Amino acid sequence: MHPAPYPTTSSQPARTRRPAPALHLLHGLWVASCPSCGFQLATARTQQRCEQRAARRVCPVCHQDGQ
Ligand SMILES: [Zn+2]
Repeated sequence: MHPAPYPTTSSQPARTRRPAPALHLLHGLWVASCPSCGFQLATARTQQRCEQRAARRVCPVCHQDGQ
């Protein structure tokens, strides 16, 4: 019953509301960046941690209207 900012499809699970961050391994450190603008969302030493941290963050560049 909550409004969705994206066009909903019946086959789309609710967990994939946001696009997955782009993960890069740089000098032994995993970096998650916004897939749209490249803003660095999170860093971690393991890919899993990096994904988890990035999943909780919202890109401030792509979501300036949220404030
Ligand atoms: Zn972004």
